[in-house]
Amino acid sequence: MLTAHLPSGYISARVAQGRWTIPHAMPVALVASILPDFDMIWFHLIDHGAFHHHRYWVHVPLFWAVVAGVTLPLMRVIARFRPYVSTALLAFAVILLHLILDSIGGGILWGAPVSQHLFSPITVPPDTGHWIASFVLHWSFGLEIIIWIWAFYLWKWRERHL
Ligand SMILES: [Zn+2]
Repeated sequence: MLTAHLPSGYISARVAQGRWTIPHAMPVALVASILPDFDMIWFHLIDHGAFHHHRYWVHVPLFWAVVAGVTLPLMRVIARFRPYVSTALLAFAVILLHLILDSIGGGILWGAPVSQHLFSPITVPPDTGHWIASFVLHWSFGLEIIIWIWAFYLWKWRERHL
């Protein structure tokens, strides 16, 4: 997924806020929606594009499962953090959504560490000269457009009519 992580975070926060009271839901969901892609800094500045950035640990589902498995029980035990368990749950859900959306066309290491295969339900063929053009011109980019329209709808229309 190229462009729709941030609006997917916005949608997630709006949907969650419609059902539950979650402290700091919107800023946390927006940051979580793009958090795995901060590996692009390392990808460009340190590794100079030597590896697919979906192979970095912040794009590995098992990493986030371990982080959630440690963080959430600790937050429930420590009284100071207990009010923010729902916030952390939202953050981990949005990160999971990021990985699911990245699976489409890009591939994610869903089987790591057992498998090093980047699992993806579809393959975007490199039909054009540049990989970005190939993604934008592929039918799967329609999903990104739908996410943007949905987020824009919630932002501009649902906000005024609630
Ligand atoms: Zn990503």
